[in-house]
Amino acid sequence: MVVAIDGPAASGKSSVARKLARSLGFSYVNSGAMYRAVTWELLREQIDPARPDRVEAALGRMKLDSGFSENGDSYIRINAEIPDLELRQIEVNQAVSAYSAIPAVRNLIGQRLRSMCQGLDVVMEGRDIGTAVFPDSPHKFYLDASPEIRRRRRAAQGQDDSIEHRDKLDSTRRVAPLSVASDAHVIDTSHLDIEGVVGHIAGILKGSGIPAE
Ligand code: C5P
Repeated sequence: MVVAIDGPAASGKSSVARKLARSLGFSYVNSGAMYRAVTWELLREQIDPARPDRVEAALGRMKLDSGFSENGDSYIRINAEIPDLELRQIEVNQAVSAYSAIPAVRNLIGQRLRSMCQGLDVVMEGRDIGTAVFPDSPHKFYLDASPEIRRRRRAAQGQDDSIEHRDKLDSTRRVAPLSVASDAHVIDTSHLDIEGVVGHIAGILKGSGIPAE
């Protein structure tokens, strides 16, 4: 079973999805970390995102491995390294949306997300989980917050992140843009804390019999 949580940058997805997964006893998948890891490697290889043919060739050479740590969180290993803090580098923030718009990148990560979750109960967060990766999931949520609040949240995390730029690219790309699935529950997190959002989602899931009694 997949609980899909989508939304723009700094809408609260990661904290909410991880906490919800823990409270349900589900695994947690941060799909953005996969796009960031591939971006980090493509930047190291100095592959121009304006050249999808070169990106595709580089992806063909990349050794990707993903799975779950003991705590239930997803990880991605790329050419034998597991990037962590590197994923938050300013260069990655700036380039990730351009690489993520390339169909070969989306296919690779989309397939991996589907295959790594087979037979598991997961909470997965991203931009297109409810619309493209698991469109048949009946459990879809879309988190949003005002641009001002999202900006403040990122600044409070000490991060230099061009979230408006990323949101624009992510919402206007041709393949699997950030959008609200027609059957998603939309939650404005502007004036809610993490526990409040988790409680709200858990209440809706409970109405659908999750977790099973
Ligand atoms: O979630 P996070 O902000 O870490 O995602 C980083 C970037 O990865 C997004 O701005 C987007 O370009 C890309 N992404 C995506 N599809 C997803 C998750 C992330 O295109 N499902």
